[in-house]
Amino acid sequence: MLKSVCLHINNQCNLQCLHCWSNSGPNGKNVLDMTDIMSFIRTLMPLGLQRVSLSGGEPLLHPEIADIVKELIDKKLKVVITTNGTKTDFFLNLVLCLSESQRRNLEVRVSLDGPENICDSLRGRNVYRKAISSIEAIKSKLGFVAVNSVVGLEVDIPSWIDFYNVLSRLNVNELAIITFSPRGRGGEFNYYNKDIHLNTNKVKLLSKNSNFRGRILVWDYLSIEHGYLLVEHDGNVILPGLIDSGDIFLGSLKSISTKEVSHALVNLRKTLNYSYSYDQKKN
Ligand code: SF4
Repeated sequence: MLKSVCLHINNQCNLQCLHCWSNSGPNGKNVLDMTDIMSFIRTLMPLGLQRVSLSGGEPLLHPEIADIVKELIDKKLKVVITTNGTKTDFFLNLVLCLSESQRRNLEVRVSLDGPENICDSLRGRNVYRKAISSIEAIKSKLGFVAVNSVVGLEVDIPSWIDFYNVLSRLNVNELAIITFSPRGRGGEFNYYNKDIHLNTNKVKLLSKNSNFRGRILVWDYLSIEHGYLLVEHDGNVILPGLIDSGDIFLGSLKSISTKEVSHALVNLRKTLNYSYSYDQKKN
């Protein structure tokens, strides 16, 4: 019933991207406590949970990240970390804490919004170059690396083809093309219009003009079918707001029960035809 969940485990981030959908940044103080996280995960396990996605903020800055990852993996869960790719030293420290078999159950995804000029205009100067180094380090340590690219209003065709060729050279295994979301700071950014989702498919097609042969996923936040269960850094369990609705609050991380989550998912599926995670479509 619920194969995956995403947790924003903090809202502290060394970057302050213009389009950050979780409103994170250097002044973020919210940190989900490991005990609360593990208790919530135990709540979800009877629903068939297989995969836990850790995001933020920058999840590698969470003070208990190594212990959280180890404990989740020891529960036979796949762990996915989405990082901004500028804290390679934190990633390397994390890997040192894991055994070979634990590493096989860790997937790391780097947020890199397409070509350098676009990425750096949203995320800050030199972020692209740092993220490229991080991708190399992750690939060499884990043998698998994925990239998440938010696509906005402008799609410069030659730059995107070049970007695909960079991903090919780096042996990136998977690219997720993500529609720009008008949530968090993205809601204030004059970058969004209703036709923006057309660009995700346009970008996907451009891969055919490149050497990139990795897997390509399209995650379209504008479709209500692609919502998923999310725990925000303040401990609220929600279905994140999409184009036609605000966030749907389900309860608190500390107190929500298996029955309450199950009930909410069944009801929402009936009424909204949610699919509860694009990730689940992979499994
Ligand atoms: S988008 Fe990601 S990297 Fe950028 S400020 Fe938000 S959490 Fe940090």
